[in-house]
Amino acid sequence: AFDVLVVGGGPAGAAAAVYAARKGIRTGIAAERFGGQVNDTLAIENYISVLETDGPKFATSLEAHVKAYGVDVMNLQRGDKLIPAAEPGGLVEVQLANGGSLKSKTVILTTGARWRNVNVPGEQEYKNKGVAYCPHCDGPLFKGKRVAVIGGGNSGVEAAIDLAGIVAHVTLLEYGDQLRADAVLVKKLESLANVTILKQAQTTQFTGASGKLNGLSYTDRASGEAKHIELEGVFVQIGLVPNTEWLKGVVELSKHGEIIVDAKGQTSVPGVFAAGDATTVPFKQIIIAAGEGAKAALGAFDHLMRS
Ligand code: FAD
Repeated sequence: AFDVLVVGGGPAGAAAAVYAARKGIRTGIAAERFGGQVNDTLAIENYISVLETDGPKFATSLEAHVKAYGVDVMNLQRGDKLIPAAEPGGLVEVQLANGGSLKSKTVILTTGARWRNVNVPGEQEYKNKGVAYCPHCDGPLFKGKRVAVIGGGNSGVEAAIDLAGIVAHVTLLEYGDQLRADAVLVKKLESLANVTILKQAQTTQFTGASGKLNGLSYTDRASGEAKHIELEGVFVQIGLVPNTEWLKGVVELSKHGEIIVDAKGQTSVPGVFAAGDATTVPFKQIIIAAGEGAKAALGAFDHLMRS
């Protein structure tokens, strides 16, 4: 059995594994796809001390760092079920989708999240070629350009306010007849001169030419009319879904499905910790996930010392 078993191989999981292994305890990491969301990222320019890198390079470095400490890396393994320890200080079990099972004194859950897609033609084709999901990450790439934000909830309206300070013009599209964000955010958005708000707008297609996004089509649901806007970027902000479906009913989750953790990364299950985008910790970023992963590993080590 492991002392620490990390489930998930993104920045949070890699940091947790390195921190645990450096304590000289038996550490394993099981991941469906080592690297996580970073694999789908082009430029990374906000990981402090690394001026610029790209996703695949960053993912390779994560794996190299983990392997340098002799961590047992089990790639292409999906956790399917978590079984809490039968008695205090007992072993926690993680059952894998392939039928295998791993046991450990402590488990750190770092299964991350995925952005919800609009699922219209052009979205996959122009992903990272104008279609973006993370304003903190990719906003500066659209400096002085025209962008749209899809989604009128808190994250969409926050993204539009944020982007309005960087880009030339922002069009916010909301499917319903009202924005769903907090009133104070809506008021702020409405006060900005370079923002257009479209309600009852159903996005139907992302258009482009020569491998780059050049606009989007939508249906005005009030009139039924089909319309098209020319722009250089689209930020899809209709939700970030945590990869926690497999933990439902076992580990306490928020109403958004995020794993609830305390200041040391401890979940509702004794000996089970969590970190990164899968948790309630706000602001989903690489540096934050990595920091939280380190914290959860120290939390797990603390737990081992006391039990
Ligand atoms: P993830 O990176 O999501 O990793 C989760 C890991 O868990 C993966 O290995 C996955 O395969 C695995 N997994 C999932 N379910 C299971 C399961 N059941 N069993 C086993 N393994 C499982 N952030 C920045 O700071 N700067 C950027 O420039 C930036 N750009 C981004 C661009 C894009 C396109 C995207 C999508 C995100 C970007 N982000 C950026 C956000 C950043 O990638 C995330 O905040 C970060 O990767 C979260 O790390 P994590 O380890 O919590 O989760």
